[in-house]
Parts: sequence; C-alpha cells; structure tokens
Amino acid sequence: MTDTLDIKITKVNQSKLSTVNFDNLQFGKTFTDHMFTADYADGQWGNFQIVPYGDITFSPAMSSLHYGQTFFEGLKAFKHENGTVSIFRPDKNAERFNQSAERMCMPTLPVELFLESIATLVNLEKSWIPNQENSALYIRPFMFATDPFLGVAPSQTYKYMVLTCPVGAYFSKNLNVKIETEYSRASDGGYGFAKCAGNYGGAMYPSMLGLQQGFDQLIWTDAKDHQYIEEMGAANIMFLIDGKLITPTTRDTVLKGVTRDSVLTLAQQWGIPVEERRVSVSEIIEAAKNGKLTDAFGAGTAAGVASVIAITYSHQKYDLPNPENSEFTQKLSKTLLDIKYGRIADKNGWNLVV
Ligand SMILES: *Cc1c(COP(=O)(O)O)cnc(C)c1O
Repeated sequence: MTDTLDIKITKVNQSKLSTVNFDNLQFGKTFTDHMFTADYADGQWGNFQIVPYGDITFSPAMSSLHYGQTFFEGLKAFKHENGTVSIFRPDKNAERFNQSAERMCMPTLPVELFLESIATLVNLEKSWIPNQENSALYIRPFMFATDPFLGVAPSQTYKYMVLTCPVGAYFSKNLNVKIETEYSRASDGGYGFAKCAGNYGGAMYPSMLGLQQGFDQLIWTDAKDHQYIEEMGAANIMFLIDGKLITPTTRDTVLKGVTRDSVLTLAQQWGIPVEERRVSVSEIIEAAKNGKLTDAFGAGTAAGVASVIAITYSHQKYDLPNPENSEFTQKLSKTLLDIKYGRIADKNGWNLVV
C-alpha cells in the first residue's frame, strides 16, 4: 500500500513486547505499543496520529457515554511463514464500518482512511503478530461521539481510533448452545446489522443466564415469534443439513459477517449447495432429530469456525455428531486458515498484504 495520509507518528521509548507471554494470550487483554487516532470536527476528519497506547480523557458529559453513539469493527492480521503480513478482507470491514456509521447517525470514514490507518498501524506493530497456529493480531477500529452535551441529538464531534491485540484461539472447545426464545438481540427496523455497542450490552444479561444454565452461547431467534433463527452469540450461524449449507439471510437483525461471506463463497466454489434464506427453529430441530443435521457452527472473525456439539430447545437437548469427524467443517477451518497464513493460493484476492 502507498501512503497518502499525513499520519504523525509518535513512538514509545520502550516496547512492552518482551513482557508478553505469547503462549497464554487472553482475548483482548494484551495491547500493542501504539494506537491510531483521528478527530472529526467541522464536518471533516483530521488530526491523524499514531501514539503510544494509553488512557484518554474526556468530559463526563461525552454523548457516546449517555446515548450510545458508538460502534466498532473487528478484523485480523496474519503473519505468513516467510514473514509476509496480510490483513483479511479489510475492504469488507470498511464497508460495514460505514453502514454502522450511517445507522447510528454518525459520520462515515473514507475507505482509504480506514484501510490506511489499519495498514500503517499493523506495519508498525509487525513484531507483535504471533505466528502460532490460530493466532493473529486482532484489529479493533471504533468510533464514538465526543460532544460534551447532554441533549439527545447527534454529536457534532467524533473520535476514530484503532487498537491492536495479539490473540490466540477464541474458543478452545465445541459449543453447547441453547435456542433463546425469551430474550432477543435485535428487532425488525432496529440496528442488529450495525456493530454498535448497545447490541452487545443488551445481549449480556440473557447470555449470562444461559451461561448459568450451562450454555456456552445462545442462538438468537426473531424478536416477534422466536420461530426463526438469526445468529449465534456475536457470530453468524450455519447448518449443514443433508449435505446442504444453510444460513439465515442477512437483514436488519442479522449482521453481514465477513466470515459468513467467505464460508459461503468457498462452499459454492466446492460445489456444495448453499441456501441463504429464513431458517426456522422447527426445521433445525427436525433435522437434528432425524440425524440430517450433521454440522452446526458459528462464523466470525474472533472465533473463526466455532463448532456446535449440542443444541437445546424447550429443555430438550439434541446432540450433534463430533465436529472433529466432519469432513466439511474440518476442510473449511483448514482452508480459511491456510488462506490467511498464505499457505495456499489466495484465489479470491482476500488478503491485503501490508
Ligand atoms: C462481528 C459479528 C459477526 C461476525 O462478523 P465477521 O465479519 O465474520 O467477524 C456476526 N454477528 C455479529 C452480531 C457480530 O457482531
């Protein structure tokens, strides 16, 4: 990538890198030495800087704290065996970043600014990218309203920032999940498709109840009748039924996952029938009962392909076949990782080399 932005870089005096245990990374707890920041005021973005990672101060009246004008993205950079560094499909995240911004009545960010902020920061933090299998540099771009103003109205000023974290595998086991039929994550006409903070805050209470009942994740259903499946936790959900890959259509309650799109693309290229449509709870339970549901998994950047081992619905538990024996899920996980680590040809042009 060629630099076009004027980014002022202030480096740390002493890197923290040598203090980090890369064999025991907890997701999102370890930050690299630097972060990117930019400010929006008077209708435009400016003040592009990379500075040492650290605390920031704001007015306690800052509007994002009160009215939730804030959202984020999540993507990953990978280190190939030969030292090459690539970021997986950042153009898709740039697009979704602006879809979230528009829904939250916040300013969009020029795609080049999004890509360059990330590429420049990742380049600077190259030595932080782990090379263990399943490890990566997690990239967290986010934007928040900064007006010190308690009126309920869109802020006039905003901050855009990017943090980076070395991470290992997100889930270490197959998931025991429950189909949620009381609480909802998103509703028609709402903003479930946006990666805005409130969607995650609102999901924490039902998720905690699920955890107390022994479930690792919740499968969200439609807010109206709880008859259709939407997502799983903060990931898209996919089912392999009778050799067909089935997943809910994206809509205002279902986020347009980059992993979801990548999985569907690969499946199509492998000649596997793919169905994107509304998926009813009853057909999934029926397929689980008669053994036709061979695979179920969450698809997301943080977790990659997260396999489900059991689904509970109306207090009835349905066990699924062991995902370790699934040809499809194994091939899928492996192919996605092989592309990201540059071990096989990147035929779809998904890796942005920095
Ligand atoms: C981030 C996210 C996903 C997965 O999207 P990816 O682009 O694959 O990481 C799915 N659903 C929700 C609700 C999410 O927040």
